[in-house]
Amino acid sequence: MSPDPFATGPFADVIVVGAGSAGCVVADRLAREGTVLLLDAGPATPPPSAVTSLRALPVGPGSTRVVRYRDERGRDVVRGRGIGGSSAVNGGYFLRGHRADYRGWPWPAEAVADAFTAAERMMRVSAFADAELGTVARAFDAHWAPRGRAAEGPWTAVGLNRVRSNRVAGHRMTADRAYLGRPRRSVRVHGDAAVVGLEMRGDRVTGVRTSAGTLRAGRVVLTAGALGTAALLTPILGTLAIREHPEHLVRFEPRRAITAPALLQSVVHTADGLELRCYGDDFAAFIDGVAPTGVPVGVADLGAATTGSVRASPAGLRVDLGVPDDESAERIGRGVAAVVEMLASPAFADLVRPGSIRVDAMTGLSSHAWGTLPAGVATDAAGAVPGIDGLHVADGSVLPGPLHAGPHATIVAVASLVADRIAAG
Ligand SMILES: Cc1cc2nc3c(=O)[nH]c(=O)nc-3n(C[C@H](O)[C@H](O)[C@H](O)COP(=O)(O)OP(=O)(O)OC[C@H]3O[C@@H](n4cnc5c(N)ncnc54)[C@H](O)[C@@H]3O)c2cc1C
Repeated sequence: MSPDPFATGPFADVIVVGAGSAGCVVADRLAREGTVLLLDAGPATPPPSAVTSLRALPVGPGSTRVVRYRDERGRDVVRGRGIGGSSAVNGGYFLRGHRADYRGWPWPAEAVADAFTAAERMMRVSAFADAELGTVARAFDAHWAPRGRAAEGPWTAVGLNRVRSNRVAGHRMTADRAYLGRPRRSVRVHGDAAVVGLEMRGDRVTGVRTSAGTLRAGRVVLTAGALGTAALLTPILGTLAIREHPEHLVRFEPRRAITAPALLQSVVHTADGLELRCYGDDFAAFIDGVAPTGVPVGVADLGAATTGSVRASPAGLRVDLGVPDDESAERIGRGVAAVVEMLASPAFADLVRPGSIRVDAMTGLSSHAWGTLPAGVATDAAGAVPGIDGLHVADGSVLPGPLHAGPHATIVAVASLVADRIAAG
């Protein structure tokens, strides 16, 4: 048997900080080149099936698989915690953005397309079939299909888009299972290993500080999520801008029983950049410990994300995910009107209890925060930060621009592109 590649002590060729969607992809790719120590603040044990069920969104008050931030406007911001990260707790929607979103990104268009194809294979992605649709999704499709389906193909487009989901037998395929399911001698995963700072010699990152001590490596790759990575870098780089997709909810009470095999099975993309989200049931049906508030339909502005900020403070990371500007608020208002009209249409006549439609007072958020260190601007195609050697960023922080989709598929694809560049480097 060959010697243990980690036998020389607490060192690795690469330390990857954060074992979420991007971290698992990066650890898998870089383990082909040398030893990788993958650290996560949460548990290293794979999420149990109660967590990964597509019928559960395990982000309720008692969940140990999430970390909660409170943004400066008082909003609850939840991110995944522990191996698998947000891929273990998210909605299981795994859609590419519009093809044009990726123009001008610092990787060739062909490489981006290939990275999506590989990510979809690894994450076992498939579109929900007609026969799998829940009650609300069937009504939603009946209303929107005559108004235009999106052009066929792997990219989303204007029109009705069937959701593609990373899933096996009713469970989310998580990033750890997809990329690290096969044990590898050159990857070691440490859970309960929160990184509290970067170890630097001059302009070079030489390792990380954890509560258990300092670990050294030739390179450090940050994949702690846009907020976790910002917590480590804002003390060095100062305040960073951050993007988020605002979402306004319209709710109704159903007048008959609803089946919902997954949170989100169908969405409409409008020509002015909105995503109308057909949630399968009341969030209370998916999230333990929250009170019923009606079946929501989401109106998210994907065309113009909000811009907020993250900054270091003595009390920890200060997060403000921003609010829509006037134009965005106007667009969202038009989307809300279209949803109210939809709920009053024949397709929903036997589903919506008369008089039960109501529009939330405030616009909320999508749990998508990204783009603090856009590749091509604040980082390069290998996720390197100018002026800091030995450091790369490969998670949602580096997504370069507006995105007409939830970010999960793009984060997985981009992590593989960044890891390829690091490996080549
Ligand atoms: C509830 C929810 C639902 C969502 N639904 C969808 C959806 O359906 N479709 C979609 O496209 N997107 C969705 N998203 C967004 C998407 O899942 C995330 O944007 C994506 O998974 C983020 O990937 P990441 O690698 O950047 O970070 P994450 O997957 O969040 O991973 C970050 C990891 O780093 C660890 N970490 C953080 N700080 C430290 C530290 N200091 N030291 C060590 N480890 C650390 C965390 O514990 C975590 O495991 C959702 C997100 C949430 C939270």
